Amino acid sequence: PICDQGGECQLQDLAVGYGKSASRYQEDKRVVVNKDLGPLIATDMTRCIHCTRCVRFGQEVAGIMELGMAGRGEHAEILAFVGKTVDSELSGNVIDLCPVGALTSKPFRYTARTWELSRRKSISPHDGLGANLVVQVKQDRVMRVLPRENEAINECWLSDKDRFSYEGLNSPERLTKPMLKQGGVWREVEWQVALDYVAHGLNDIRKQHGGAALGALATPHQTLEELHLLQKLMRGLGCENIDTRLRQGDSSADGKLAGAPWLGMKIADIAALQSVLIVGSTLRKDHALLATRFRHAAKNGQQVNIVHVADDELLLPLANKLIVAPSAMVDALAQIAKALADIKSAPLSQAVAAACAPVQIGEAARAIAQSLAAKEKTAVFLGNLAQHHPAYAALHVIAQDIARLGGATLGFLGEAANSVGAAVVNALPGSGALCAQDMLSQPRKAYVLLGVEAALDCYDAQAAVKALNGADLVVVLSAYKHGGADYADVMLPIAPFTETAGIFVSTEGRVQAFNGVVKPLGEARPAWKVLRMLGSLLGLAGFEFDSIEDVRNDISLDIGALVAGKLNNAIGDVRIVLGAPPAALQRIGEVPIYAADAIVRRATSLQKSADARAALCAGLSGALMEKLGVVEGSMVRITQGTGAVMLKARRDDAVPPGCVRVAAGLPATSALGAMFGVVTLERVMAAESQQQAAEQI
Ligand code: SF4
Repeated sequence: PICDQGGECQLQDLAVGYGKSASRYQEDKRVVVNKDLGPLIATDMTRCIHCTRCVRFGQEVAGIMELGMAGRGEHAEILAFVGKTVDSELSGNVIDLCPVGALTSKPFRYTARTWELSRRKSISPHDGLGANLVVQVKQDRVMRVLPRENEAINECWLSDKDRFSYEGLNSPERLTKPMLKQGGVWREVEWQVALDYVAHGLNDIRKQHGGAALGALATPHQTLEELHLLQKLMRGLGCENIDTRLRQGDSSADGKLAGAPWLGMKIADIAALQSVLIVGSTLRKDHALLATRFRHAAKNGQQVNIVHVADDELLLPLANKLIVAPSAMVDALAQIAKALADIKSAPLSQAVAAACAPVQIGEAARAIAQSLAAKEKTAVFLGNLAQHHPAYAALHVIAQDIARLGGATLGFLGEAANSVGAAVVNALPGSGALCAQDMLSQPRKAYVLLGVEAALDCYDAQAAVKALNGADLVVVLSAYKHGGADYADVMLPIAPFTETAGIFVSTEGRVQAFNGVVKPLGEARPAWKVLRMLGSLLGLAGFEFDSIEDVRNDISLDIGALVAGKLNNAIGDVRIVLGAPPAALQRIGEVPIYAADAIVRRATSLQKSADARAALCAGLSGALMEKLGVVEGSMVRITQGTGAVMLKARRDDAVPPGCVRVAAGLPATSALGAMFGVVTLERVMAAESQQQAAEQI
């Protein structure tokens, strides 16, 4: 009765199965002191039966042994290293593995009994994997999320992001009533009033300034139906400025892409690859479960090569690595292409050949080229950071050439749950229209934001907030009240993935439909219904949908075939510029694992994790710290463009010379500009630092 595992305990099941209702154990029972394993895992170590499943999970799947068994016989106990917590991005799986109540979920603990919960199927809205979920619900509230086994996708695992993000669904920041700002004051209004206001506002601006004065931004975490209706609405208004690639630093390849960028293969096929090159990916954090596939394959002989901007621990054996500053990534990839062309005695494409002429091939690049050339089943993958990089188009073109020369498959590690889906339904700028970045650097009169928190989701937070503050009308469709309250004129509460039906198209092109598992909170409504209503109020044709199936049929009668026909990673030639590295300090603006989308940003337990805490610091190499006279934990001021922030310095020797790691996607850094670029860093004197601390208090 006092154990949180009651009702779902394998030991209890065995005891009940064997029919003994009372223990015959007469001896004194030993007591094991509980351990603090961090904000996600609660312990009752007296219950541990020493099966060591949790230890083996760390060794064999997560790639890091954070739990071990110390002592012998009666003194044996499971514990973490002295003073350490369990910080792996896959740590929650040990809760499922533990056959007794020794390891349980800290956020879920004592909030419900297993027999009180309804179990409903769903799909993860976070990264591009599309992990299958079982969402457990009590009284119309999501209480817990567990993995739903699918060997082709997430196997039987879940990343901590997928498992614990549900806390964000129940956040007090949820927007539950439509709100309108009048005279600088927010007030709650009825849906009809809010929708009329939006329809009139958009119509007036369109009539006065034309459709091009409008812009629509959506996150690629929205459903296929929502993205389809958004682009249909905007195009109905004569506006082609629509984009979901909010963090993409370079859209110069627009118009030269053959289709929707995707993984290039099935997820399960990763295991069969013999050599891979992963470019610009914080693999473990961005794609925690894809990393386990590579880890497993590497153990079986796959050669994993990386080109990246930080020498992070991937917990897998690397064949070769080329760690360079962001400004040198194009050069690094060009070296590999040139080396591969030499090995294969084959010509580079015209654009790549021109760019590669002055490039000097380094040892690491040659070794990577040899690894790709020597194996038969090979692939080149571009990760999130490559897709955010200011020279993304050049990276794409060179990666394509490397894949062609090496007989490899070119793939993209999809950033978000519906990155592929957004391209499939063309939630992208029309020909000659503005991409996300251009919409913000060339401000529009009115914006429609679907699920977007501009200061956290965009490539250049400074430019985004400035453009939105200057607009005549900003319509925010969001599940949350957020920083948008400053620049928005109207906020419409929409349902997150657990409260609406929808489709996500995963990075491997898998179409996965799901239903809502709870009722929308307060007056929130599924975004497809809101967009449908707006379309009707604006008098646009083709918005007469009675059900989500009608919307799906409007996309295509065969969405699977539509997706299959659009998956294509080919790109036409773009001009490649190999610039000299800047003399100044470069920002590495990665998006931290628990800052990637609006739901996870509000998952309180994940925000207490070591990963979330580390992201709040500026990462400097030891050499740079010494040069600047900065010590670990002291405050530094980082200036970029017109903004500056103060952060704690953290020693991070994974960062290459001339760079500082300053995360994007965080309120603490949203005053800064582009995710990559030149920054200045100065030591903050003790008095100034104390004053800031006092102000914060
Ligand atoms: Fe103990 Fe549970 Fe780990 Fe088994 S899985 S060793 S019972 S803590």
